Amino acid sequence: QVEEATYLQNVHTIGQMAAAFAHEIRNPITTVRGFIQYLSTENHHKDLSKFSPLILEELDRTNQVITDYLQLAKPRKPIIDSFMVDRIVKDTISMVAPSATFQGIRFEQELSPHLFMKADGQHVKQCLLNILLNSVEASPPNSVINVSSGICSKKLFAFISVTDYGVGMTTEELEKVGILHYTTKTTGTGIGSMVVNRLLREMNGSVKYESVKNEFTKVTMFLPLHQD
Ligand code: ADP
Ligand code: MG
Repeated sequence: QVEEATYLQNVHTIGQMAAAFAHEIRNPITTVRGFIQYLSTENHHKDLSKFSPLILEELDRTNQVITDYLQLAKPRKPIIDSFMVDRIVKDTISMVAPSATFQGIRFEQELSPHLFMKADGQHVKQCLLNILLNSVEASPPNSVINVSSGICSKKLFAFISVTDYGVGMTTEELEKVGILHYTTKTTGTGIGSMVVNRLLREMNGSVKYESVKNEFTKVTMFLPLHQD
């Protein structure tokens, strides 16, 4: 028999998560609805191709939110394989590029060629996507986000780092990143960074956050290097 207090705590947690989930799913759906409504008006023809990447991205984002929540609620064990880092980085950047471009944000890539990691490719993508989205959300219009990859000096780990020149964080704020439901955004859920922490840890990796308020934020993912 479950204790009354535990039961009530569980109900409370589920309620909070459902509310946050509904909120984050509704945002992109509302945006997509707006676009589609616009398409049913008269003079949309030439704008169609301009908006379709944004519509697709909003839908991908909905998918991403669902993936994050499922990962928390019903974690999938990582399937460790060897994969090429720059391929994954390029694929993931292309998922956020449309809306970043729309805001004048540009990605500058400095990727090590022929770098292989031992990890679950899907999970690495999910982590990187969360990190990139946070960087885009923190960045001012017409700024640059640097993405680089390489080998750590100790040679056991490969890294992928993302640096934005946006709102940044204070020391106090830095300490809270990764706590479930910690968010400073009006439409945030505060689950992305927790998912990042958890997935990386499961793959014997880690994440490091460095930041200076109003200057920059650098997020680095470390994962075991594949050596042959
Ligand atoms: P959410 O994006 O829903 O707020 P996250 O877990 O992804 O949740 O991030 C938690 C918080 O960490 C953010 O609300 C923000 O305050 C801070 N944060 C994360 N990445 C950055 C960044 N690149 N620049 C500034 N703040 C960040
Ligand atoms: Mg986030």
